[in-house]
Amino acid sequence: MQVTFYGVRGSTPAPGAEFSRYGGNTACVHVKLSDGTHLILDSGTGIKKLGNILARHSDDIHLLLSHNHWDHIQGFPFFLPAFQPRRKIFITPGLTTPFEPEAILNQMSGSWFPISKNELLADIKILEKDESILSWKIGSATITRRKMNHPGGGSSYLINDGGTKLAYVTDNELFPPYRIETEFSEWQSFIKNADLLIHDAQYTDKDMPLKHGWGHSLLEQAVELATSSGVKRCAFYSHDHTRTDDALDELMMHVKERLDQLKSPVDIMAAHEGQVVIL
Ligand SMILES: [Zn+2]
Repeated sequence: MQVTFYGVRGSTPAPGAEFSRYGGNTACVHVKLSDGTHLILDSGTGIKKLGNILARHSDDIHLLLSHNHWDHIQGFPFFLPAFQPRRKIFITPGLTTPFEPEAILNQMSGSWFPISKNELLADIKILEKDESILSWKIGSATITRRKMNHPGGGSSYLINDGGTKLAYVTDNELFPPYRIETEFSEWQSFIKNADLLIHDAQYTDKDMPLKHGWGHSLLEQAVELATSSGVKRCAFYSHDHTRTDDALDELMMHVKERLDQLKSPVDIMAAHEGQVVIL
């Protein structure tokens, strides 16, 4: 399995030189399975660059959406394969509340966007799986999902490709003030022994209490989850759009110190655009 990050930013893009090392595009990760199947996790602005690469061939594309907040769908109208005739794109929407499976296409309508979804030439299928379906196959992988703790809900995914496991858990608030969909202990079981955990780590103590309930986790909470779940590697994700590269470096220095204190073997990094992880 090959995992490539195309967008790592949360909430809104972060343009500018001070964000260029980690990158300013919003959520998008490309996963190439062992049988060559192309999976995409989320369709933030990062999907534009990925689309330019995928447009060079005609393979089927499977897009798994966590939820419909703008930073997870706003790149789709600029995704070149969506304009390729006969191109097959299968979209699994997130388990949002309310459930709005067509939101990614309906953003291309009314006064929001200059062209309509009807002008997309690809063969796009929205796969509306009943929420009781927790697990299914795509290519060589088994996909399992859990509900996120996030305003408006959504899905997190575990991709198991012949025993190699990738967990994608964003946007997720591990200890929210609202009704919990998935408890901390359930997250521990869900991601147990994953080869790579991609987890939301948008906030620090300084962001609290203002942002408690906004749907994201603190770095310390993500460290706690990663170190207590037996995962091998963890990529912090959904970086705050105001967090500069230098500020993120400093936060990660503290994370490394904490890992040393805990004598934890987990390799924790802050995901950056263009980063490739082979599992
Ligand atoms: Zn969100």
